[in-house]
Amino acid sequence: MKVQCPNCKTRYKMSGSKTSEKESKVICPKCLTRFSIMPDFKTKKDTSAEYDYYLPRNKKFVSTATGHIPQWGAWILIFVGALLLMGGVWWFVDTQRFLAKAQSSPGIVIDLIEIEDAGTAPKVRFREKTENSEIVFVSKSSSSPPAHRKGQSVTVFYEPKNPENATIGGFYSLWLFPTVFSFVGAMSLIYGIGLVISRSTRHFK
Ligand SMILES: [Zn+2]
Repeated sequence: MKVQCPNCKTRYKMSGSKTSEKESKVICPKCLTRFSIMPDFKTKKDTSAEYDYYLPRNKKFVSTATGHIPQWGAWILIFVGALLLMGGVWWFVDTQRFLAKAQSSPGIVIDLIEIEDAGTAPKVRFREKTENSEIVFVSKSSSSPPAHRKGQSVTVFYEPKNPENATIGGFYSLWLFPTVFSFVGAMSLIYGIGLVISRSTRHFK
């Protein structure tokens, strides 16, 4: 059952089918209005000095704005957040593992390749050290506007046994996506958990 503060319209969830035989006098923690909750959950302003209790005081979660996200919405936020966070962390570990066995070599951006709907990706030439052969690859990370220009010197990380598996060093091509995934995942997870906690603390007898 929901009761609404007659002054600021903040809604509070109440457990049970009935408050008590008589009315309960409460204070809205948000606007400090005193009001009565009748046994049928109707409310009316009541300025009398004595009151039974404050409604749950966690102001952060009692606003009507979060009141409209249903319980399953909070669980979806938690589920999707956990998936994104795990994906982001896995991506970090994978990049770290790649760098641990990678060789680095100076390279040069020889061209910018248009990728459909994804901006441009730099085409890079470098010399790998094992066979001393020249390798050309197109970076997996593309962007709009381009993150590199033609003729730019870059550091290339590559797998010594498979030098075609190469990537440009730097935050953008190595760490941006794992960071974004982890951050968005963590935010969604925290927000979802906050919603679930706020729902359970809003119940009162
Ligand atoms: Zn109020």
